[in-house]
Amino acid sequence: MNKHFDIAIIGGGASGLALLYAMHLQGVVADYTIALIEPDSKDSNDRTWCFWSDESDPAWQMFSPCVSHKWDQVDSAYPSRQQMFPYHYAQIRSSDFYQFVNDALDSYPKIESYKARVKSLETGESHILSLDDERQLSADLVFDSRPPQLNDPELIWQSFVGYRIKTKELKFEADVCRLMDFDVPQEDKSLQFMYLLPTSRTEALIEFTRFGKAILKEEESKPIIMEYLKAMDIHDYEIEEKEVNKIPMSLSLNSSEKRHPEYCNYVPIGVRAGVVKASTGFAFKKIAQHSWDLAIALKNQDTFPNPGHSRQHWIYDELLLNIFNKKNSPIVKLFIRLFKVHPIDRILRFIDEKSSFKEDFIIMYKMPWSPFFWSIAKSIQKRLSAKN
Ligand SMILES: Cc1cc2nc3c(=O)[nH]c(=O)nc-3n(C[C@H](O)[C@H](O)[C@H](O)COP(=O)(O)OP(=O)(O)OC[C@H]3O[C@@H](n4cnc5c(N)ncnc54)[C@H](O)[C@@H]3O)c2cc1C
Repeated sequence: MNKHFDIAIIGGGASGLALLYAMHLQGVVADYTIALIEPDSKDSNDRTWCFWSDESDPAWQMFSPCVSHKWDQVDSAYPSRQQMFPYHYAQIRSSDFYQFVNDALDSYPKIESYKARVKSLETGESHILSLDDERQLSADLVFDSRPPQLNDPELIWQSFVGYRIKTKELKFEADVCRLMDFDVPQEDKSLQFMYLLPTSRTEALIEFTRFGKAILKEEESKPIIMEYLKAMDIHDYEIEEKEVNKIPMSLSLNSSEKRHPEYCNYVPIGVRAGVVKASTGFAFKKIAQHSWDLAIALKNQDTFPNPGHSRQHWIYDELLLNIFNKKNSPIVKLFIRLFKVHPIDRILRFIDEKSSFKEDFIIMYKMPWSPFFWSIAKSIQKRLSAKN
């Protein structure tokens, strides 16, 4: 017979565990029987999350004990080094996050973990989950973080190849990060840049990143990373960890129609719920915010909220994505200009969808207008042809 649970959480990655941790902080975990279904053991560092914070957001408030490093200054691609105040850029290693949340959840006997994959899900008043080890479960409420199906013809990817390196000599400044250094080879219809995130005088994560349709391969990225290090007079180093992966960047992921049309007791979370900002690939802060809001809704027996994107910033994302996909795209020049003419805290507020109309106007006013006029025309054209 099926084992029945009040709640099933599909996926014990960022959003599944953040939700459980938020429920723990809201004091509601013990009220429910919970099945957590995750095929991986989650005992290694399978990714590193970075986000900026002024410490007022749920990402910082819930997970600051897992922050392994933070930077107060940012370098390169900007006219000069800048203090990030009131923000800092924080890094969480996923292995620390998994450990931290699992430690907090250890004391709840009503959480049952299944090391399995959900093969199929039958939604209904009570949901039926079939696992790949042939077990079946049912649950009144499902939070689902399985990766979404993507069928956006305009989909682009943030793909990256990163190395955590250790040098023999003292080469880095541990409180200064480089966020988007565009001084790397560029290709049409894509934007490429380097992140350099030092965690000590001799250790750093260096990550070559591309926004574009073509996904970066390690063979093409490694020589570019090596050249970059050589230019910094870094020749003698060991690679301690690799991070090769990709994140979808698509407005179709940001729409709230992902909700089941009939059942409010089926709730997508994480990337599946549209937390990834379409023009940047950042998602961690939204995951924490959404988890926090869901936990409050559970506590108050309220309607479950969507992650939510501000309408005005959704439109900016659309305009930028059009420009990414343009032949001979001016996107590199636009980004360089953005970072040159605006202070970093304004840009971070803008990317965070926290900027005011006035601030957005200042940002737009100082950018070249013609690519945006072209992009507006493109969006109108797309809408008209979708209607016909
Ligand atoms: C390498 C990498 C680095 C990133 N870095 C950043 C960053 O620095 N900052 C930022 O803001 N965002 C970052 N992101 C984007 C985003 O924050 C992450 O992708 C985040 O992990 C998304 O959370 P999630 O819960 O949706 O997915 P995941 O964390 O991937 O969790 C989904 C879980 O579901 C499990 N699963 C899959 N299929 C099934 C199934 N059928 N049944 C049961 N379980 C299943 C998977 O094993 C996985 O553990 C990064 C993404 C990647 C891939």
